[in-house]
Amino acid sequence: MADAANSVIGTRSSLVVEKCQVCGGPDLEPILFLGYLPPVNRVNAIGERPREQTSYPAQLLYCPRCHLVQLGLVVDPQLLFPSEYPYTSSTTRILRENFAALSRECQTILDLGPDDLVVDIGSNDGNLLSNFKDAHRVLGITPEKIGEIAIKRGIPTIIDYFTPKVVDAVLAQHGHAKMVTATNVFAHIEKVNDVVEQVIKLMAPGGVFVSESHYLLSLIQTLQYDTIYHEHLRYYSLHSLKYLLESHGLEIVNAVKIPTHGGSIRVYAARSGDFPVRASVKSLLDEEGPTVLSREALLKFRDRVVLSKLELQSLLLGIKRRGHRIYGISAPSRASTLVNYTGIDEGIMDCILEIKGSHKIGRYLPGTLIPVVEETKLYEDQPEYAMLLSWHIADELVPKLKQKGFKGRFIMPLPEPAIIE
Ligand SMILES: [Zn+2]
Repeated sequence: MADAANSVIGTRSSLVVEKCQVCGGPDLEPILFLGYLPPVNRVNAIGERPREQTSYPAQLLYCPRCHLVQLGLVVDPQLLFPSEYPYTSSTTRILRENFAALSRECQTILDLGPDDLVVDIGSNDGNLLSNFKDAHRVLGITPEKIGEIAIKRGIPTIIDYFTPKVVDAVLAQHGHAKMVTATNVFAHIEKVNDVVEQVIKLMAPGGVFVSESHYLLSLIQTLQYDTIYHEHLRYYSLHSLKYLLESHGLEIVNAVKIPTHGGSIRVYAARSGDFPVRASVKSLLDEEGPTVLSREALLKFRDRVVLSKLELQSLLLGIKRRGHRIYGISAPSRASTLVNYTGIDEGIMDCILEIKGSHKIGRYLPGTLIPVVEETKLYEDQPEYAMLLSWHIADELVPKLKQKGFKGRFIMPLPEPAIIE
């Protein structure tokens, strides 16, 4: 069977992170190792015999100088983000609502006029820019073919990576941007210092750069180690973002915690002195202090991760001893980390369910022989247990699954492994 997701082969090797990705500091301290994980988009068809599959070490490192938590290996991005990369941001309700909120909130910081340009880096299907396109000039930049959807929605989009050449082309054709946004991509792109330089080049005088990234404090507090995989090169705290942005002459003027991806941070930065700094910045820095600023605190997080793995295994052991079945609910990227790290295999979890139309149906979860099948199987088979692999949106999922007819119980794998009715 032809396999589009596996047809793109990387063009270079992975890069070992010898120095901090933000400050270049050489003394990186290991804090957590989740084993060797397969790339989440390289998946085998059900029934295919296991074949050679590359996996990459997922080790977290802490930089005591700028406080960045980062992966110790940069995997070839062409391998991680093939142009067929199927992620569409508009399918997620929480993201649609988040971007609508961003479009209202940013107006309280800067005065965007009808002629002002908003550029979104990693614009995907135009989800964010759809909130701006009727009142301002907009331009998306995204490497995935999915950018064609944005173009059809009336959002001009350059389908390419965010490179100096592309920035020059934008400046020549569209001029400077009053606002540049980068949501859920700022932790993904390598050479982040170069990215910030290009953002500044693109920013008009009095312009603002808004980034949204999964937030290290949420990751630690709610034990979201399952968001650690090779697409995510960096795990930002406000401290590490401050170090990064200030080293380029930018100043953080507002910082907001937002609910996307189980807890993210939205940060507004501008050229130093352009805008008043809101009290939110200091209060979030203070809140982070004891949690993200020491190796000892991060090692405590590591210990909690290890215990939670053992607790989950113990809970699953009890269920399997009773001869009960466990199906997984949905196969987001984070499911791959959770399942591979905790050692769940096809003998423990019979299958994983995805809604009709998902490109993951008919394939195995990466690194396993657990088949991903259509959701209807859950209601036909009525297994005793369903494990929520998107546990961070359990509040939304549980009522929906019950309403559709599932009568069994739910397993929450994280932050505390637990069974819920
Ligand atoms: Zn550093």
